Amino acid sequence: KAKMEGRGTCRSFEPGMDARLQERRLLESELTLGVTKEQFVLHYQPLHDAKTSKLTGFEALVRWNHPRLGLLAPSEFIQLAEETAVIDALGEWIMRRACADAAKWPVPVKVAVNLSPAQFKQQGLSLQVASALAASGLLPSRLELEITESVLLANNENTVRTLHSLRDLGISIAMDDFGTGYSSLSYLRSFPFNRIKIDRSFVSLMCESSESRAIVKAVAELGTTLGMTTTAEGVETEDQYRLVRENGCTDVQGWLFGRPMPVSELHALFEQPVALTA
Ligand code: C2E
Ligand code: MG
Ligand code: MG
Ligand code: MG
Repeated sequence: KAKMEGRGTCRSFEPGMDARLQERRLLESELTLGVTKEQFVLHYQPLHDAKTSKLTGFEALVRWNHPRLGLLAPSEFIQLAEETAVIDALGEWIMRRACADAAKWPVPVKVAVNLSPAQFKQQGLSLQVASALAASGLLPSRLELEITESVLLANNENTVRTLHSLRDLGISIAMDDFGTGYSSLSYLRSFPFNRIKIDRSFVSLMCESSESRAIVKAVAELGTTLGMTTTAEGVETEDQYRLVRENGCTDVQGWLFGRPMPVSELHALFEQPVALTA
């Protein structure tokens, strides 16, 4: 377990088993309350064009400003939110907040929002997204939704139908953490994604592993063939940046370009040149 202290840094704590169960029950009730009390915040991590290194957008990453525990990372509460259906209300808040924030940014700058598999179980997900767009005035072309392979794991017609109705709104859909699921390639067949985000685990090993380089290269080529852009996740060093660029990734994200940050810090980034094509 890790508690976030400021940006990016984590502290570990390991309470005993009983304490952990109690903590979970407590968190469960606090989670529901947290949504009504708006204790959640979105931090934004910059996304950059690989070739020009210009800013193209931001990924919204949720944190819970917990009254007792401080700023909690999504790994601390998203799963619980999914298990308790709090994710519906939380997910809706995230969508509305992210669209409202992005509507204030310079026009070419896009926003990416993560969707949890559980959100596909509710009826009317695309209505919820359409309503967030309408309320904020954000152009649909400036919104991208990220889903992981686990959304398609229970590959039912409903999920794919929902994805199509989301795309019909004019927003784009990215496959997140690509390469970590059971059957990554087959998922690419089930839906025409706009983007593949190559998981950080491949990117972080690129310098020392020729296999990782070959995999990233192959996925980038596959993306090009399928008409999908490819983002390299977790680029932390100049060497990794050079390698993902050389191997054909079209976009980059990672600490080298910026950590997730509060919305109030974004204005400084808008002074740099912004990519006009995304
Ligand atoms: P993700 O969507 O793959 O987001 C990227 C994660 O990698 C973020 O962690 C980000 O802080 C971290 N990261 C980015 N660049 C680097 C880097 O260069 N090095 C390293 N070591 N890490 C990097 P975070 O914010 O803790 O989020 C973890 C996961 O929680 C996300 O993975 C996503 O699956 C989920 N999540 C975050 N926000 C939301 C949300 O609003 N809704 C839902 N449903 N899930 C969310
Ligand atoms: Mg993501
Ligand atoms: Mg990811
Ligand atoms: Mg990842």
